[in-house]
Amino acid sequence: MTAAHLMKTYAPQAVAFARGEGAWLWDTEGNRYLDALAGIAVNGLGHAHPRLVKAIADQAAKIIHASNLFRVPEQERLAERVCGLAGMDNAFFCNSGAEANECAIKLARLHGHQRGVESPAIIVMEKAWHGRTLATLSATGSRKAQAGFEPLMGGFLRVPYNDLGAIERLAVQPAVVAVLLEVLQGEGGIHVADLDYLRQVRALCDARGWLLMIDEVQSGIGRTGKWFAHQWAGIVPDVMSLAKGLGSGVPIGACLARGAAAQVFKPGNHGTTFGGGPLVSVAGLATLEAIEQEGLLANAERMGGIVIQGLREALAGTAGVKEIRGRGLMIGVELDRPCAEIVPRSLAAGLVLNVTAERVIRLLPPLVIDEAEAREIVARLAPVVTAFLRESHAAGGA
Ligand SMILES: *Cc1c(COP(=O)(O)O)cnc(C)c1O
Repeated sequence: MTAAHLMKTYAPQAVAFARGEGAWLWDTEGNRYLDALAGIAVNGLGHAHPRLVKAIADQAAKIIHASNLFRVPEQERLAERVCGLAGMDNAFFCNSGAEANECAIKLARLHGHQRGVESPAIIVMEKAWHGRTLATLSATGSRKAQAGFEPLMGGFLRVPYNDLGAIERLAVQPAVVAVLLEVLQGEGGIHVADLDYLRQVRALCDARGWLLMIDEVQSGIGRTGKWFAHQWAGIVPDVMSLAKGLGSGVPIGACLARGAAAQVFKPGNHGTTFGGGPLVSVAGLATLEAIEQEGLLANAERMGGIVIQGLREALAGTAGVKEIRGRGLMIGVELDRPCAEIVPRSLAAGLVLNVTAERVIRLLPPLVIDEAEAREIVARLAPVVTAFLRESHAAGGA
């Protein structure tokens, strides 16, 4: 095995997974791991879910791709289903989260131009993550990800997250056409927006005629215990992006729109060769059906509570643990020091997870985990954290 001919965009762990079942993974050496990452919030149904496997296999035997130059009945069914769950009017399907946000950004700009705004601007957040294409990278609030790729795209105004006043101060700018934000910032370190803040941003967007665009790429499709995390605030966005969990592992993204936003694109404005093909659409349909029929929303909420509570008890009073936070199965453990080393240490303990924003251990287990598995995540992680904190040194002054 050699990676000599791969561009060095990743520094992967020295483990390769050969198969999985439910919340468990086996590497090529036959070692077994509990999966608390789900391929970065992708494999909500866990691995080798029978309904998903059958749906994909059956569809592959019929037709995999025909292009969007023809009607795609599977895509039409998925659009109806996902719009119904979200209270949205229509959807554009693509292949990733970045593409879903590209679609949202283009939609907001076109909406602005259609209303006579010559150089439309979108309000975005510090610590936001929207993808790695040039427009979504420009919208992303990570200097580390942006460095070296300048010139970035203009048309974004950045404000601190969870700070209504900062958005209100931009209300005087006539160029603003939309606000783009995550309900819980995932890559940024599991930062949870106040529900009141979200309601107030919704009201401000209504008052100003701005589009509220919510990036649910990581937090959507049941991850927080509701279909979409913004539903905790009882609001509905004008535009919403989805990807990660939507296809349970096949590449699919979606940009959903409602009201005036749903009328912006006309034929020729936007497109994709692969997006929303029959294979990925049936995977999306199977995902939504399984989540509904297996009660996975309630399960995600309950299991998330068990993991958070368990970690708070197991790590209570541990110097170096700053905060344990999250909603449903989107959970972060913030330490007082950089902790990338937690990843290989956890792998050695048979637990798959990752670290984001340098100091935040991130848990995104499949929505199908049961109570024993939720407790097992805590049982495997807590001693790894304690040993790491004991054997490493706190970052100066942090
Ligand atoms: C992962 C992520 C993206 C980017 O999705 P890709 O499929 O990697 O392009 C965008 N927004 C959020 C909130 C994400 O978590």
